[in-house]
Amino acid sequence: MGFIEEFKHAYAGDETHHYHVARKQVTCLHCGGEDFDRGSALLNTTGLTFLRLDWVNREAHLLICAGCGEIRLFLEKPDRV
Ligand SMILES: [Zn+2]
Repeated sequence: MGFIEEFKHAYAGDETHHYHVARKQVTCLHCGGEDFDRGSALLNTTGLTFLRLDWVNREAHLLICAGCGEIRLFLEKPDRV
C-alpha cells in the first residue's frame, strides 16, 4: 500500500488560486510559483504510523503548483486568498 491511499482534486477545471497556511503565503519550493490547485488525500494507517503521525486526522490537504506540478502537503487546511 502506498502512503497516499486516495488522491482527489477539490474542484473540477484548472482554476488556480493563492493560498495562505498559518497566515503565510504558500509558494512552490521548486519553481517559486504562487498559483496552486487544491486537492486532498487520505493517508493510510501504514503511512501515518511510519511518520509517527497516527494521532492526526487522516485527511491531508494538498496544493498542486500550477507552474511545475509540485505537490505541497499540509495537515492544516490552506486558506484561499
Ligand atoms: Zn512550482
